[in-house]
Amino acid sequence: DIDADLLRRWLDTATSVIEREAARLTELDSPIGDADHGSNMRRGFLAARTAIGQEPPDTPGGVLVAVGRQLISTVGGASGPLYGTLLRRTGKALGDAPAVTAAQLRDGLKAGVEGLCQLGGAVPEDKTMVDALVPALDAFTAALDAGDGTAVALTAAARAAEEGAVATTPLRARKGRASYLGDRSIGHQDPGATSAALLLTALADTAR
Ligand code: ADP
Ligand code: MG
Ligand code: MG
Repeated sequence: DIDADLLRRWLDTATSVIEREAARLTELDSPIGDADHGSNMRRGFLAARTAIGQEPPDTPGGVLVAVGRQLISTVGGASGPLYGTLLRRTGKALGDAPAVTAAQLRDGLKAGVEGLCQLGGAVPEDKTMVDALVPALDAFTAALDAGDGTAVALTAAARAAEEGAVATTPLRARKGRASYLGDRSIGHQDPGATSAALLLTALADTAR
């Protein structure tokens, strides 16, 4: 089962990973954006870790809602409201249960990804974080349907997200700043899809 403690540990790991990878995320955001994705994510996750350290929520849904709220209020870029909506929606779908099953987490994430897609208007192949999140959700579902445990299913999801992020390279961006570049966005990996894969890898590592 997935409880508040696991998600608080995920937040710690995710924050460390984002800090470590911030320079790379910003570098990916240079040719097809405004070179701030790493600093945006870093600011948001540091704020979330501080807020949750001060007032630790005692449900998994509460942790995700609190992280989402911090991302929305501290990240200036597009990624803040998008990730914020993803996490808040997911957290709300989990309700106030003290622990949830992997299947409940999957249903919550599905609601979260739907909320994000609705807010940003992106569909798969638009070269955005959606290109990591949707394959991850599909892989998570397939693994759970095949009877895999939480950690194995999350590992499959994280791997699918990484593959999805790499697969954004040849795409032409149709959403966000990168879309202003048209064909010149081709040949660069999307920073948001890359950070989404990092966040899911941190979750899989925490669940192991
Ligand atoms: P900004 O573009 O405002 O500087 P960031 O650099 O933090 O914000 O985030 C950029 C990332 O946000 C992109 O790489 C992309 O993955 C994601 N993104 C941008 N617009 C959208 C959208 N409409 N839908 C989904 N994801 C988006
Ligand atoms: Mg940017
Ligand atoms: Mg920006």
